[in-house]
Amino acid sequence: MDPSARGRIAIVGAGPAGMATALAAIRCGFQTTIFERHPEVRPAGNILNLWPPPQKVLGLLGVDIVDLGAPADSEFRSHDGRVRARIRLPEAVKAEYGGGFIGLLRPGLYQRMLDALPEGTIRYGHEMTSFTDAGDRVVVHLRDREDVEADVLVGADGINSAVRRGLWGEQPIRHQKLHLVAGYLFREAPDPVTGHWPGWVPVRADEPGDRHHLEAFQGGLDDGTYELVGPKVQRNRYQLERHELWRRRFRPGAHRPPRHVPPSPEGFGRRVS
Ligand SMILES: Cc1cc2nc3c(=O)[nH]c(=O)nc-3n(C[C@H](O)[C@H](O)[C@H](O)COP(=O)(O)OP(=O)(O)OC[C@H]3O[C@@H](n4cnc5c(N)ncnc54)[C@H](O)[C@@H]3O)c2cc1C
Repeated sequence: MDPSARGRIAIVGAGPAGMATALAAIRCGFQTTIFERHPEVRPAGNILNLWPPPQKVLGLLGVDIVDLGAPADSEFRSHDGRVRARIRLPEAVKAEYGGGFIGLLRPGLYQRMLDALPEGTIRYGHEMTSFTDAGDRVVVHLRDREDVEADVLVGADGINSAVRRGLWGEQPIRHQKLHLVAGYLFREAPDPVTGHWPGWVPVRADEPGDRHHLEAFQGGLDDGTYELVGPKVQRNRYQLERHELWRRRFRPGAHRPPRHVPPSPEGFGRRVS
């Protein structure tokens, strides 16, 4: 152990919880390692929204939050389209936090958090199978690898947490029956407060997380609100062969699939059934 460290922390899982915990622990002087079962971090879902408090915390953790996302408006509606609440933030907060409530693509946030972590903090391909509480330390058992010892074990291993199971046994998962509709809004003018171009997201050919968007971006799109759909999104509920951007037309009470963006001549957008 690094003699200057305050102690060893082993974190299981390199999702947002694991990365945020590591960033905080490192800043507090702990020798910190994340054990991630996959060979890379894999963002679940695509769109994410952040309020000013998490933006502030990310900044305090050393994450670059400049131009992290686009300013977003937020309102809650009932199933029949009735507006239940509209969120209004003071202009001063909007100006300080790049629009206040921001929308972003999940891989973008993951990359910023990864950039803030010291090299080697995450050990990829390390799956925790179980652990042993040895009183003054914890022994972490890894699949096909040597055991690792730490002073503290943090379970950031998601909804089916093996750490939770090791502590309290099998726990039933409570389903919230919450449905979320998300999309991109393409605009022709920068935001008057921040000067940003809300809704436009950088999509890079060399970014593995962007490949579904690249596939979907083929063909011209009109201004509007779009949702990314396809094989790797939300269990492919519309059974598509390829990724597409579907235009959202919200009609209160209507529960039909959104209008399909016209397919390109190469057959882009063909349905399986
Ligand atoms: C399909 C889908 C879409 C979603 N869309 C959105 C969205 O658009 N916006 C939003 O805000 N939220 C969304 N969510 C919810 C969001 O993903 C979670 O709330 C968030 O990821 C939880 O973060 P976490 O770090 O606690 O866990 P996770 O993100 O689940 O990270 C857990 C990590 O632990 C690793 N791990 C698990 N077990 C082990 C083990 N035994 N050993 C080593 N590593 C292990 C996993 O590989 C993973 O990297 C979505 C979730 C899903 C499934």
